[in-house]
Amino acid sequence: MDAHDTMATGGAPTAIDPVCGMTVEKPQAEAKGLHTVHEDADYWFCGKGCLLEFRDDPGHFLDPAYVPAM
Ligand SMILES: [Zn+2]
Repeated sequence: MDAHDTMATGGAPTAIDPVCGMTVEKPQAEAKGLHTVHEDADYWFCGKGCLLEFRDDPGHFLDPAYVPAM
């Protein structure tokens, strides 16, 4: 952990949950196991429900026509 980085950006690195569109803090998601790798790209999720949905059918959520929704 480099405290300098977090101070400079004012927060943890974030990612967008591709399933629901929520902003997720990467370290928090990783601590809870809510992270997956699909075709060499990393994805982070707000909760287990989104992670399981994504794993079930990644192509559906990565389709440009898909609009993230809660
Ligand atoms: Zn989500």
